[in-house]
Amino acid sequence: MRLKVLGAYGASDAEHNLTGYLLDDWFAVDAGTLTSKLSFAQQARIQGVFITHPHADHIRDLPHLIHNRFSQNVGPLTVFATREVMDLLSKHLFNGVLWPDFSVLTSPLTGKPMLHYRALAPGKKVMFNDIGLTAVPVDHAIPASGVIVEMGGQAIAFTGDTGPTVDIWKRTNKTENVVAIVTEASFPNDQQWLADESAHLTPQTFGDELKKITIDAPVYASHRKIPFERDIESQIKNLRDRRARVLLEKNYTL
Ligand SMILES: [Zn+2]
Ligand SMILES: [Zn+2]
Repeated sequence: MRLKVLGAYGASDAEHNLTGYLLDDWFAVDAGTLTSKLSFAQQARIQGVFITHPHADHIRDLPHLIHNRFSQNVGPLTVFATREVMDLLSKHLFNGVLWPDFSVLTSPLTGKPMLHYRALAPGKKVMFNDIGLTAVPVDHAIPASGVIVEMGGQAIAFTGDTGPTVDIWKRTNKTENVVAIVTEASFPNDQQWLADESAHLTPQTFGDELKKITIDAPVYASHRKIPFERDIESQIKNLRDRRARVLLEKNYTL
């Protein structure tokens, strides 16, 4: 599988982008960065997007991805999230004030709905085209779920934002052929109090999470906050676990 990391940071400036991942060019996880780094044609190829949680840094480009669908002659976009997260998106974002609810509109080009919402029950695998999606709740400041994506005989787990957590590791450990895990390390070790308060990880607690993971696959730390990215990077290296890596904004072949 190909993983295109469009955004690997928990903050943004001209050189750092908010969370957004694209698998094999057609399935996205989080939408902090999608439209801002993809051409109109590349956006049209996206068929589904999973949203871990509705914090602004994970959904920034979602209204624009949906809006652009209006003038693309392609099938509907399916937005996946847990019911709790979906309800928060409907109430606070797609409420006719911040942005329209495009799911009730029909595409002028295809005559079909432009958008579907599909709520996922935690822990229950669903199929979308030929990929498997399992949402697994994590521990963050607001309702949030990671997702395990099974695609072409390989699996990849994304936690999204989380503090120390349990369920997604248990589920990932039981999943066949996991080729990568993408989690987070938002703050450096000397800001452990802030990470704890906001339900995020530091390299130190990232290291504790690594001990819960029994499989031998690279575990990437994403969502580093500017301006601590170098400190976090060296602290991840100092864990001396060969699985521990920082996630870079580049294309990975897994
Ligand atoms: Zn975030
Ligand atoms: Zn968050």
